[in-house]
Amino acid sequence: MGSFGYVGAKEAAARFDDGTAAITSRRVGAGHAYAFGVDLGFFLLTGYNNREQGVARSYANEYEPALDVLLRLLRDMYREGEPAAVTLGSVPQGKEISLLMTHDVDYGKSLANAVQYAEYEASAGVRASYFIQTKYVRDWNDDVFFNEAGLVPLSRLRQLGMEIASHSVAHSLVFNRMPLGNGEERYPEYLPFVRDKERTDNATVLGELRVSRFLLEHFLADYRVVSFRPGHLREPYTLPQALEATGYRFSSSASANNSLTHLPFRLTYGRETTAQSAIYEFPVTIEDEAQPPLGERLTQTLQLADRLARYGGLMVVLIHTEVTGHKLEFERQLIESRRQRAWFGTLREFGEFWAARDRVTVDSEQRGAQIRVALVAPERIAGLALNLPAGYRVASAEPRELAYTQTADQVVIGTLSGKASLILGVSGSGR
Ligand SMILES: [Zn+2]
Repeated sequence: MGSFGYVGAKEAAARFDDGTAAITSRRVGAGHAYAFGVDLGFFLLTGYNNREQGVARSYANEYEPALDVLLRLLRDMYREGEPAAVTLGSVPQGKEISLLMTHDVDYGKSLANAVQYAEYEASAGVRASYFIQTKYVRDWNDDVFFNEAGLVPLSRLRQLGMEIASHSVAHSLVFNRMPLGNGEERYPEYLPFVRDKERTDNATVLGELRVSRFLLEHFLADYRVVSFRPGHLREPYTLPQALEATGYRFSSSASANNSLTHLPFRLTYGRETTAQSAIYEFPVTIEDEAQPPLGERLTQTLQLADRLARYGGLMVVLIHTEVTGHKLEFERQLIESRRQRAWFGTLREFGEFWAARDRVTVDSEQRGAQIRVALVAPERIAGLALNLPAGYRVASAEPRELAYTQTADQVVIGTLSGKASLILGVSGSGR
């Protein structure tokens, strides 16, 4: 990636290792002028498209906020120069961090064990997402387990309020290299066969997406599958448009560290730089295959959660359910310790929040001692937090029935749908 280093800049918001300014900063009147020596949009897409090519220091389980730091810097520059600035919170209900518990079910015993996880989660008031491999072909990977016996735990997961999502049909290590297919792949003619690590026969990207979703929906009455995660996080370049074409909305297919961010983002066509897809990505933060075993990583995970909580980050936890034991205990302690500060929900619930938030517009204007904030939410959104300028509180709201709660510098709107407006006053001057 090309960059400019500015020489002779007296003030700099950031410098490269050679001392030249990466971002210049100059006071102009009451504000500042900044010049960036990095193409921010291109850098963001480098992470979002998982084309970081060695930028990330780690694959998963670590703190990798390269993009977040720049986005937060931009926001702070805006807030610094605009006394009426109102920005949108990134966590539902104004909590500190979004914590999504997700499970991959890709092995014979995993479905029965999944029920134990779900029973604990339901008892704790947490809804989790279960990515289910619809495995009806016996191959190198494993025996068939999406069968009559497998449907019993599957419907139990639904009864307990869990999200059911797709984890493909074949769970192939070469999913990232599969042909796109023609979109006519159907059960039972579609018969992908994993021969070994390197070879999978008769499989296509569209087949993996279409057939798994069809089978899950077929056996779960009145249920729509909207989330997908590939086996081994192997993501083909065609995945965003293939997900969109087959009716999915949400993806959890990359690791947060490879994506250089602990915030959600939108995927592009072909993971290239020219067009957005409708699919949102919620990358995996914590996985359970690294060493030491998950049960010994609670302290490290909580430390990471604290760092993400400082800026409303997202923590997606991936736990395979092939065993319970130390993994279930890890989950239990994570949930118990963050019960008050974190928002918990499924990928689908968070995805719907995020997609609606992405369409919200906010316009704020100083009027004497007051600030008028105009909001438009084309899609209904619950629990959206607004960060207010220091010292301001909501004095009145339209429509009158708009419910909201306030803390020091934040207001959380109950449900926002269509237009609303808030009048902010300096604390003490409002009621
Ligand atoms: Zn898997």
